[in-house]
Amino acid sequence: MYAIELPIAIKVVDVIELSEAIEGMYAFEVPQAIRDMYAIEYPKAIEGRYAIELHEVIKYMYAIECLRRLNEYLKWGYFRGGIPPPFWSCLENSEMCASTMQSPVAIKTKNVVKNNNIEPFDLSELTETSGIKMEMTNTGLAVKVDFLDYQPTIQEGGLPGPHKLSGFHFHWGRNSGRGSEHTINGYKFAMEAHFVFLPTKDGAKNFAAVLGVMIYAGSYNPNYEQIVSKLKDIKNKGDKVVLDNFPIMDLLPKTTSCWYRYCGSLTTPPCTETVIWTLFENSISMSEYQLKEFRKLMGEPEIFTEGDNYIVDNFNQYSRCCNAKLH
Ligand SMILES: [Zn+2]
Repeated sequence: MYAIELPIAIKVVDVIELSEAIEGMYAFEVPQAIRDMYAIEYPKAIEGRYAIELHEVIKYMYAIECLRRLNEYLKWGYFRGGIPPPFWSCLENSEMCASTMQSPVAIKTKNVVKNNNIEPFDLSELTETSGIKMEMTNTGLAVKVDFLDYQPTIQEGGLPGPHKLSGFHFHWGRNSGRGSEHTINGYKFAMEAHFVFLPTKDGAKNFAAVLGVMIYAGSYNPNYEQIVSKLKDIKNKGDKVVLDNFPIMDLLPKTTSCWYRYCGSLTTPPCTETVIWTLFENSISMSEYQLKEFRKLMGEPEIFTEGDNYIVDNFNQYSRCCNAKLH
């Protein structure tokens, strides 16, 4: 137990692991800008990470708001630096992060309502490889792959119109006991892949469709090798590499007919609530070796402040709403 009085009256309760920082108590690093503002000295022993009682959190929010008014540029992050998820709504144009249809959600299968009226997806274009150019980037926060030329389209599956694949990215943990943004019956997967589809010109406007794939640590997955083998070429923020062509369908579970559906939001600021979520019921595996290759990537120093600034724990599991209707 630590009990240290700080200038902004944040009482340090304990140092807790990230995985425990979900209910009622938050562990995070106070950004450098706020430390400077309040001249906060951090005892070396706990390296700037504090668990703060919930009723004290409001003071931290005021501090962020104050900086915002001073027009300081604040970067959002996860729980290892930058502004952490519970305070994203304090950021410019990100008020929606405190709204009620936010993603991710904790899926409890006993609460899922079965809907037999939704037609299956037409994913046939995801099996094509011709004309596709994929560029993989280290964004400093994650790994993303963009489709530069041809963007394959998906249809049906209860979507309001055709949607084209703009790209995909990954969220992962420091170890395989966490990393996914959504949880299923409390289970945290080692990684979660998001395939982001935007409405085509003739489709319904505004709503993005994201297909989520849960990835657990298990056997080696040859289908992901085109990606994993190129991670060493994007070691640092801003690095890019073009991938060899392969069918995107290979990155999805073998069975894609069962999935969870709800309407939610982007899981990063500005947290816009215009996402039709589809999470496949079937998960896929990657080996520990493959997962570790992601954890070797270097991120933004202000956001990943530990060790050598490796990108780890880049997931938002701070869920405000549990009442999303799942089908
Ligand atoms: Zn995502």
